[in-house]
Amino acid sequence: MWNFSTDPDFQHQLDWMLDFVKREIEPLDYRFPGHGAPYDVRNAESRAAIRPLQDEVRRRGLWACHLGPHLGGPGFGQVRLALMNEILGRSYWAPTVFGTAAPDTGNAEILAMFGTDEQKDRYLKPLMDGEIVSCFSMTEPQAGADPKEFACKATQQGNEWVIEGEKWFSSNARYAEFLIVMAVTNPENPPHGRMSMLIVPTDTPGVEIIRNVKVMGDSHSADDGIHGYIRYNQVRVPLDAMLGQPGEGFKVAQARLGGGRVHHAMRTLGKCQRALDMMVERANSRQTQGKRLAEHQFVQGMIADSWIELEQFRMLVMKTAWTIDEIEAGRVPPIAPRTLIAMCKVQMAKVYHDIIQRAIHIHGSLGVTLELPLADWWGGVASLALADGPTEVHKAQVAKALLKRGAAAPGLFPSEHIPTRMKASG
Ligand SMILES: Cc1cc2nc3c(=O)[nH]c(=O)nc-3n(C[C@H](O)[C@H](O)[C@H](O)COP(=O)(O)OP(=O)(O)OC[C@H]3O[C@@H](n4cnc5c(N)ncnc54)[C@H](O)[C@@H]3O)c2cc1C
Repeated sequence: MWNFSTDPDFQHQLDWMLDFVKREIEPLDYRFPGHGAPYDVRNAESRAAIRPLQDEVRRRGLWACHLGPHLGGPGFGQVRLALMNEILGRSYWAPTVFGTAAPDTGNAEILAMFGTDEQKDRYLKPLMDGEIVSCFSMTEPQAGADPKEFACKATQQGNEWVIEGEKWFSSNARYAEFLIVMAVTNPENPPHGRMSMLIVPTDTPGVEIIRNVKVMGDSHSADDGIHGYIRYNQVRVPLDAMLGQPGEGFKVAQARLGGGRVHHAMRTLGKCQRALDMMVERANSRQTQGKRLAEHQFVQGMIADSWIELEQFRMLVMKTAWTIDEIEAGRVPPIAPRTLIAMCKVQMAKVYHDIIQRAIHIHGSLGVTLELPLADWWGGVASLALADGPTEVHKAQVAKALLKRGAAAPGLFPSEHIPTRMKASG
């Protein structure tokens, strides 16, 4: 059955959330600026500011909604999470106030799925409580989109794993209590069975953050980079630091990246909606050639295209979220929603690019200044097409899924060849 409505009780919660995010959380983006600020759990001032807000979120039963009941969360499902994340995507601070900030969400998921009881007690519980943050350390300086090229290795010596190698773009490593490191442990296995995940407390001897890499939108201040370039110098962890089984690294990474990608798409909807709201306000405010921008057809075209693309993207995200919920409820066969998630990943980068670009353009010179949030958001355009895998990899996955469903033409001409069909129709 097709149904596009939200249940009224939950809509009530969403209405409260939107008001709360706009009123209480968006100001934090200006009071504590910087892409890393929400993750800096050691900043006493920002923590004191968000604690009462987090308590309010908990009171309303909206804390850490990304985990289902079987994984220790309240279990809202992906459709509700999508509606919530769209609101949270408006602000850098909002996911932290609601206990659903990436990459901690994905790390919490894999700890819940693959962690031992000890690992859950030590890492998952404080992560879920918002007391610590974590880092996923997978990409390497010489290889990103193709994990088969990863070289960072862990060798077993007595009752320890010894990790040696480098990792690149380990986001939030500088704030993290622990790192989840993907390392080659079984080089003798076929490529997808060579790696494992190891949980490494950040203060383990040998963990060296070479530098914190900055991206577009960060300032030149030494404090701004959050993407750790890390060297693991003979880092020793006990054997029980492994998350999952030896050789299961790919499986664990996939479990994490699927959800992560769809959550990013959900939050991106929120940023796009905010940019569209800005476009509408500007078009209704500014005069040129004796009439408001809103009355010029080129401007109307930009607004119409943006709204249409946003609605199409929202439908794709909601269908993906709904499919995951249906699979989990056992109502549809458990075919992984990988292709839909890949579609979201591709479309997210494109829709975000197009809408932010138009929003900047409609604001004229003011749009490119640092006096509006748009320039900062524009900095995210390139990252969205790369983080969690480049667009090309996901497009190839989508295409292959469809090509697999098809077959070659039965004869010399395509099956839609009109003369052939006329002949066959008698
Ligand atoms: C903001 C941000 C945050 C990130 N956070 C993390 C993190 O926390 N932890 C972590 O481990 N990593 C993180 N990454 C790294 C991210 O996962 C990689 O950037 C991504 O996997 C791509 O790898 P790469 O950068 O090495 O690009 P490469 O693999 O070198 O790819 C470069 C380009 O080559 C082309 N290409 C690559 N593969 C193919 C293909 N199969 N077919 C066709 N063309 C292809 C594409 O044009 C692609 O853009 C982050 C990246 C960004 C931008």
